[in-house]
Order: sequence, then structure tokens, then C-alpha cells
Amino acid sequence: MTEKVFDVVVVGSCMTDLVSQAPRLPKAGETIHGHKFFIGFGGKGANQCIQAARLGVKTAMVCKVGKDFFGDNYIQNFKDNGVHTEFVKQSSDAATGAASITVDDAGENAIVIVAGANMLLGAEELQEALPAISHTKVLVCQLEISPQTSLQAMCMARDNKVKTIFNPAPAIPDLDPDFYRVSDVFCCNESEAELLTGTSVASVEEAHRAGQELLKRGCGSVIVTLGPQGCVVLKGGESTLKHVPAPVVTAVDTTGAGDSFIGALAFYMANHPHMPLEEMARRANLVAGVSVQDIGTQTSFPYRRDLPNEYF
Ligand code: ATP
Repeated sequence: MTEKVFDVVVVGSCMTDLVSQAPRLPKAGETIHGHKFFIGFGGKGANQCIQAARLGVKTAMVCKVGKDFFGDNYIQNFKDNGVHTEFVKQSSDAATGAASITVDDAGENAIVIVAGANMLLGAEELQEALPAISHTKVLVCQLEISPQTSLQAMCMARDNKVKTIFNPAPAIPDLDPDFYRVSDVFCCNESEAELLTGTSVASVEEAHRAGQELLKRGCGSVIVTLGPQGCVVLKGGESTLKHVPAPVVTAVDTTGAGDSFIGALAFYMANHPHMPLEEMARRANLVAGVSVQDIGTQTSFPYRRDLPNEYF
């Protein structure tokens, strides 16, 4: 087995967003005319991988797409962003994951997600990707693929002393407790923290309390992101409140901000392993803060060349 050395490996999802803008959302059985249509690249795993790659680290994606136009297109998108695609597998058994999104003029939306080929990523593909998973500096997982596959990938990384970031999104109420044990950094947003702890998370103090509860479950550190308020950072063995504020910016579209934050965090963990987690979170806030100032998901993620030198 040849070694594959990457800085960041992401095991996760790819989704094609099919976005229609219309004056209003259609009722059941109704057909209406929209005024704009576009196709976007999404999926939490792919988004996070692409943000890390754009900041300038060697990345590989482990995922499954369909043997279809959208799958081919997505592989090209990875290549265009410098992401290694040897572990992006294509299946004839399901279509590439897709999100059909209708947005009305008031910004209200209706979304149907079909995970498709994402749910076919399993033990066989992880085994093939083992040379990459076991030698990377950082592994990142989420929950848009089978949770069992995510957990297995995290365990493979941990067995090889690889640092792990786990993003429990979309959150599931009965998360396997082993996820906490194998997470070096457990990074979630307010609503995920609420669902996982069963407590309200609407302020910095509440996020800190929820973070303490998550920390008790066995992860190394916890980050709870708080949109324009930045995030709170909690490390095992420390009880002081560490709130890391976000830069004050004019946000035009926050879609994918959480993925930009996690991709940036993975970048800093790989590139500056000895940097305090708080400082990594401060810099990830800055990167995600740039992403909210432009529309779209991956289209808004900054490249290294867009950011000042002090971010690196
Ligand atoms: P999404 O689901 O929209 O991708 P999320 O809910 O997972 O995002 P958030 O907590 O909303 O994640 O945002 C993640 C990070 O993005 C924040 O910690 C912050 O750094 C940045 N961010 C989000 N919204 C803003 C904003 N309005 N101004 C500045 N930074 C922001």
C-alpha cells in the first residue's frame, strides 16, 4: 500500500444545488414560472474540503457521486480547486446527491434533498482510502453521509494518531456517543448544540454551558459557532469562558458560513498544529466573515490570494 500524504482529508458529502428563484413558492400540484435558475456546488463535506484547499493545503476528498452528468461535473469542480480526486468514487446505483431549492422573493425557501450516492459511501471505499486517512494531518467528518461511515473514518484516523474535526451536521438526536470520544475538535452551530444537549443556545453564556456539557462527553475540545457573534471555544481541563468574536461585516448571504469556518479551521490545524485553538478560531472567524460578504456557497469562499498575509 503506497502512502498518500495530505494535509487535510475530508470524508463526507457532495450535493448539486438546483436553485430556482420564483415570485412565491408553488402550492401542492401547482406549476409556476420562476425568473432565475442556477446550479451550485454544495454538500457540507465538499464545501469544507474546498475551503481548506483554497487556503493552500494539500487536500483529498473521500466521497461518492453518481455515474452521471452531475457526478462528472463535481469531479471537475474538485480538480479546478486543486482537491485530489482518487477517492471520489462514482456509482451507477444512485444519482449524485442533489438539493432542489426554490427561493421566493421574500427569501423564504422550500428544499428537497436527495442524498443519493452519498449514502453508498461505506467500508469498502474507506479501506481504499486508508493510505490517505491514516497519513493525513487532519481528518474532517460530518453527518450528511451514513453516520456509521463517518464514525468508522474517525476511528481509522484516531487509530493512526491523526487529528480529527467532527461537525455533527445535520444534527441527529441519538448521536452515537463514540463520536465524542474520537473527536479532537467537536465543532457545531447553535441549533446543533441545542439538539445535542436539549438546552437553549441563544447567547454566548448558553453556548458556553452547552459546550461544557459536550466536552464532558469525551471530546478534546468544543467549538460552538454563533453566526455574527463568532464562536465559543472550550478545551478539556479549562473552565474559563473563551468567546472569540467575529469581525463586524455587512453580511449579504451566510449560506455555507459554517463550512467555510470548518474548512479554515482544518487548514490552521494542519498548517499550524501548535497554534492555540482560540487563535485558530479567531482566524477561521475572519475567513468565514469574508464568505458572508458574497452570495452563494462555494462561490463566496475566499482563496489565499484574497486574504491579507497575517491570516497565514
Ligand atoms: P450555515 O448553516 O449558514 O452554513 P452555520 O449556522 O453552520 O452556518 P454560523 O454559526 O451561522 O454557522 O456561522 C459560522 C461562522 O461564520 C461564525 O462563527 C462566524 O465566524 C461567521 N459568520 C456567520 N455569520 C456572520 C455574520 N453575519 N458576520 C460575521 N461573521 C459571520
